[in-house]
Amino acid sequence: MLMKTLRPSPISSTVDFDKDGVQHGFLRLPYSRDDSAWGSVMIPVCVVRNGTGPTALLTGGNHGDEYEGPIALYDLARSLDAKNVSGTVIIVPAMNYPAFRAGTRTSPIDKGNMNRSFPGRPDGTVTEKIADYFQRELLPRADIVLDFHSGGRTLDFVPFCAAHVLPDKQQEKKAFDAVEAFAAPYSVQMLEIDTVGMYDTAAEEMGKVFVTTELGGGGTSRAETVRIAKRGVLNVLRHSGIVAGAVEKQPTRWLDMPSGDCFCFAEDEGMIEPLVDLGEPMKEGQVVARIYPVGRTGAAPAEIATKMSGILAARHFPGLVKAGDCVSVTAVVVD
Ligand SMILES: [Zn+2]
Repeated sequence: MLMKTLRPSPISSTVDFDKDGVQHGFLRLPYSRDDSAWGSVMIPVCVVRNGTGPTALLTGGNHGDEYEGPIALYDLARSLDAKNVSGTVIIVPAMNYPAFRAGTRTSPIDKGNMNRSFPGRPDGTVTEKIADYFQRELLPRADIVLDFHSGGRTLDFVPFCAAHVLPDKQQEKKAFDAVEAFAAPYSVQMLEIDTVGMYDTAAEEMGKVFVTTELGGGGTSRAETVRIAKRGVLNVLRHSGIVAGAVEKQPTRWLDMPSGDCFCFAEDEGMIEPLVDLGEPMKEGQVVARIYPVGRTGAAPAEIATKMSGILAARHFPGLVKAGDCVSVTAVVVD
């Protein structure tokens, strides 16, 4: 009987993940198209290795319109010296490179959302092929995985590092210890709206220590959130024993997202009037935003009320909102 085996990934790496030193190269994905018959997508990758030791896999640009992670990781890739490393650091600052180049959340090639494409397919779309390479080639190498996110063009967050509640409590504790080490102003036990196809889930199901962030948003970055990202990634490497030195501790407030009641979605389209700013406290039932119908004057706005007490952890970013958009996320302060 023939065994059905997955075909190898079409992606080839120009760096050798098992070689000591600093290498800058590409994950080259063949992509035949109108403007390049035998062309490729060239995803930048850096590997810094010094002997045996743990491996950290660091990614930004999973969504192409989020910038703190790519800034911190391009900076780390050009500054990390192999002699300061024990083990291996794999840096992919712009994971969904076509999306990153377009400044969009999803890929302009196939509309693929990288964080809904796992485990991917070697014979799938461009986005699925990248996901498959991470699933079968990069994740298995990693002991700790840090995947940077921010709100992108349509959300804005208080700056936080996060991990998920997991069935394996030892794995969960290691992840929350790494979140604490990242030392963002907020640390979150994060609840996902929809975990199917997430990179997070793929890494966690492989037993990896997985931490993620939400460091701002609006399709740009700020000096403060970039500083948090740069400090956080070095702290995670120090915490993992890959880079020498003590974790640079900062006060952090722990937040919990205990249920789907954290999320408020618009049921109307219109113009948003925010009544609460990020980080401000809210009481259950409090109106956090109004949505004005803009087609006529004299119409009353729809009110968005938080279903639980806490702080405003995230908000819709653009001034106009559509039905179904996430308007606000409430997180509960853990004392
Ligand atoms: Zn994201």
